[in-house]
Amino acid sequence: MKPDVLIEKNVKEILAELPPGVELVAAAKTRTADEILKAIDAGVKIIGENYLQEALNVFNVIGKRVSWHFIGHLQKNKVKKAVEIFDMLETVDSYQLAEMINRRCAEISRVMPVLIEVNTGEEKQKSGVLPKDAIDLVKRISIFKNIKVLGLMTMGPKFGNPEDARPYFVKARKIFDEIKELNLPGVEMKYLSMGMTNSYKIAIEEGANIVRLGSKIFGERAN
Ligand SMILES: *Cc1c(COP(=O)(O)O)cnc(C)c1O
Repeated sequence: MKPDVLIEKNVKEILAELPPGVELVAAAKTRTADEILKAIDAGVKIIGENYLQEALNVFNVIGKRVSWHFIGHLQKNKVKKAVEIFDMLETVDSYQLAEMINRRCAEISRVMPVLIEVNTGEEKQKSGVLPKDAIDLVKRISIFKNIKVLGLMTMGPKFGNPEDARPYFVKARKIFDEIKELNLPGVEMKYLSMGMTNSYKIAIEEGANIVRLGSKIFGERAN
């Protein structure tokens, strides 16, 4: 099958299988605008990008016909540009980063929906706030007028057997519920973004309502 046709087939199968209320983010790092457009034609409504420059390249071709989620590690010097093109930043993990996002959004009079990234596996090389600090971070960020916290995102450690990822999804869900019960002003715990190609079914069982799929849509990445 031609790669184009495969993308279309993959997206349609995934959309048919996802339970109602679970949103699909097409994780599009390294993919061309043409590949992404194929996914959009097949029904994808949200594109996830990890790197600002890569996002700008495809955004300039595709534009606002879909929602754009930032799912990579956001550097502070990229925030100004990022808040112009993204509809949600899924990876806020520090007060300083939130403060910068708030300031840049205030300059252009917008309120940015964000998720707090939690490093559920407490892995040194991964970004994300540690589970024990997540609630405090949400409380501190909730005072910013130009940011709206809408939930949590987690990657979790990568395992060959996705069943091993389950405890980390459970952990994220527990933190999500704890924050929700606090009813913090300005915070609306609506989204739990977790699960990738090899783990999304388990993530959904544990409460994910955003899944981020790359290779399942576009095929294996070259790198
Ligand atoms: C690449 C990526 C994904 C998707 O990974 P696949 O295994 O290709 O589905 C999801 N989330 C983030 C943050 C990513 O960087």
